[in-house]
Amino acid sequence: MSITKTAVVTGSTSGIGLAIAQALAAAGHAIVVNSFSDTPADHAVADAIAREHKVKAAYIKADMSNPAECRMLIAKAAEIFGSVDILVNNAGIQHVAPVEDFPLEKWDAIIAVNLSSAFHTIAAAIPLMKQAGGGRIVNIASAHGLVASPFKSAYVSAKHGIMGLTKTVALELARDKITCNAICPGYVLTPLVEAQIPDQMKANKMDREAVIREVMLEKQPTKEFVTVEQVAAAAVFLCSDAAAQVNGTHISIDGGWTAA
Ligand code: NAD
Repeated sequence: MSITKTAVVTGSTSGIGLAIAQALAAAGHAIVVNSFSDTPADHAVADAIAREHKVKAAYIKADMSNPAECRMLIAKAAEIFGSVDILVNNAGIQHVAPVEDFPLEKWDAIIAVNLSSAFHTIAAAIPLMKQAGGGRIVNIASAHGLVASPFKSAYVSAKHGIMGLTKTVALELARDKITCNAICPGYVLTPLVEAQIPDQMKANKMDREAVIREVMLEKQPTKEFVTVEQVAAAAVFLCSDAAAQVNGTHISIDGGWTAA
């Protein structure tokens, strides 16, 4: 895996996915940037990555809640770059509500984007990786792939599910030089999480620091956010030659949350 490879990162126009796309580009890989919005800003992300890291990069629009579009993303990436060697399943959404009130459409969307999309992209990528003689699959799970929190039934179910998918795929492909692993971040201060802080300040009558300390980082023993760069560095490691025997497992990056 040391020479230039093609990496598809789902949901890579912001947050963790963007940092992973940038870090894999810095490692010399060609990058497929994905989101479902297809705006000029989305295309600009791929252009900036290509310019900054002197690699090939393309933006492909595909809605990860749609099985056919998940599979099309992989087919189109292979059409453009000739192979898909690295697949990072990162796209994810969240909704918070008690189980008995959880909206059905939110449950279906979270299971589709956070779990089923990975099944579809993996299924489509496997023949290409086998043909190329190897590959790397990295699934961005969560501390919620290992432990639960109240009011996040769909998210916790999807993230636990992706841990099972990760292990199953790893076993099935162990003889094909294809590894499949998960990364389980704790709280990462992405634009999405940042946007929740003002609402939490209002709802809890707290200042910004109190919201971060007592609401968001309550479960994270270091009381610090994980950074997108720390998650990206783990992804780059899992895609490296050094990780050839790391298979069917996960790397927790949660400040000690799941040690408790
Ligand atoms: P984010 O909202 O910044 O990024 C999510 C990305 O997914 C965006 O690029 C968005 O365009 C894309 N996306 C959403 N729905 C999509 C769809 N239907 N089709 C295609 N793309 C879609 O969020 P983030 O915090 O960077 O989250 C990225 C991943 O990391 C998610 O799987 C999330 O569950 C996981 N994660 C995040 C945290 C955290 O604290 N931020 C912690 C653990 C795990």
